[in-house]
Amino acid sequence: MRPFGFEHSYARELSGAYIACRPNQVPAPRLLFLNEPLAAELGLDAAALRAEAAFFAGNELPGDAEPIAQAYAGHQFGGFSPQLGDGRALLLGEIVDRRGRRRDLAFKGSGRTPFSRGGDGKAVVGPMLREALIGEAMQALGIPTTRALAVAATGEPVRREGPQPGAVLTRVAASHLRVGTFQFFAARGDRAMLQRLLDYTIARHDPELAGTADPALGLLRAVAARQAELVASWVLVGFIHGVMNTDNMALSGETIDYGPCAFIESYDPQAVFSSIDHGGRYAYGAQPSMARWNLARFAETLLPLMADDEDEAAIAAAVTRALAVIDEFPDRCDAALLRGRRAKLGLGGSTSADDAADHELIDAWLALLEAQAVDYTLAWRGLADAAEGRDEALLALFADAPAAARWLARWRERCERDGLAASERARRMRLVNPRIIPRNHRVEEALAAATDHGDIAPFERLLAALRRPWDDAVELEAYAEPAPREITAGYRTYCGT
Ligand code: AMP
Ligand code: MG
Repeated sequence: MRPFGFEHSYARELSGAYIACRPNQVPAPRLLFLNEPLAAELGLDAAALRAEAAFFAGNELPGDAEPIAQAYAGHQFGGFSPQLGDGRALLLGEIVDRRGRRRDLAFKGSGRTPFSRGGDGKAVVGPMLREALIGEAMQALGIPTTRALAVAATGEPVRREGPQPGAVLTRVAASHLRVGTFQFFAARGDRAMLQRLLDYTIARHDPELAGTADPALGLLRAVAARQAELVASWVLVGFIHGVMNTDNMALSGETIDYGPCAFIESYDPQAVFSSIDHGGRYAYGAQPSMARWNLARFAETLLPLMADDEDEAAIAAAVTRALAVIDEFPDRCDAALLRGRRAKLGLGGSTSADDAADHELIDAWLALLEAQAVDYTLAWRGLADAAEGRDEALLALFADAPAAARWLARWRERCERDGLAASERARRMRLVNPRIIPRNHRVEEALAAATDHGDIAPFERLLAALRRPWDDAVELEAYAEPAPREITAGYRTYCGT
């Protein structure tokens, strides 16, 4: 296979942070999905890649790939594991894309590595197509995300609850640096490696911090800023990540690890779909506070780089500086949420004098959605029609329509103050309130067809719809509809599958 143009900055600069490892050989590679727009971004020839199922299944590597399994630790549901690492993933190398961004290319599901512990290192068709779908949906929604370049079936049955068709996903990420990467070396008291990791992370994601007085604190601030925006954007579209362990929090600010994620249907801050999240630790509405918790774990790893460990006064001062960043994180999330919700409500020209009143207006709206179990996506989208004076479809979503109508009157009063024309307000609202999200029943239907019948067509149709989240086209109607209630009520997602 022809060289890809891989570079290997991580492998060159961070020896000790990975183990070289080869992918498994598999019996019958078949390409299920190739992400042509992403291939184009990377400067790769999509037509040529179509013929490379053997590559995407891990059987044949380009001469310039140097596969490595990356080391990382992590808090999983609050409990610390000093050694996780890529148990079923391999970084092949980095590509500098058409816009000059360095991006990782990695396999997921390519077989056992020295970090596999008890796992088989494999992945299966359903969950890998799911990751591809949700990643593309997030991309179309404008949310930073890792993405699938391809999914290849391996032709090998993989043991899960029953036998499942095996698959390998090729993931593209701004990097795979995680909170857990820092935790790996912090847990070993390896200050020298932490320093190298800090230098590498800064060079890759925050080069303006190089040479500043306290680069570790700077990185903490930069990661906090990215996470606040990211988590707020999840909340705004109704996304539940489902497994926000510190090994699944990327320092780049991209969404990573689409295991048990799902979108809410009716609005419910307590919503949990993951089969293993018994305590609701990663519930929809808990995500900002869990991101803060993860950030505190990240700060702990940076303290040795912020102060000499012999100097107690310096350590105390570093703790104070780090705590200030963590303590202001909830406000950062709230600010991003307020900004996002104002846009979703079509409120232009807001000033800080409006803050308290807007908070009340937003809280009242969300309380209505929650109390009446209204479909979150349809309700926001319906508000754009209401901005143009068409309230019927929106009101029909509420069991107590008069209560909704009373809120609409309050909202209209607020709208009138900014003098925006109705059509312009509605247009802006339709750019931030998606019509099409990955509805759980549609996702499951597409994955079942691919897994049980080898039929990829429903996946392709759903993917095409998810790439047009703002589009009112009639032919997309079926993808805009909520799942029947009984499906959502019993919906469960699974991780690590
Ligand atoms: P995740 O829940 O996907 O974030 O994975 C958590 C940890 O479990 C990571 O270290 C993974 O590499 C590892 N892991 C998940 N599934 C497997 C598998 N099938 N085989 C080996 N390791 C796995
Ligand atoms: Mg993970």
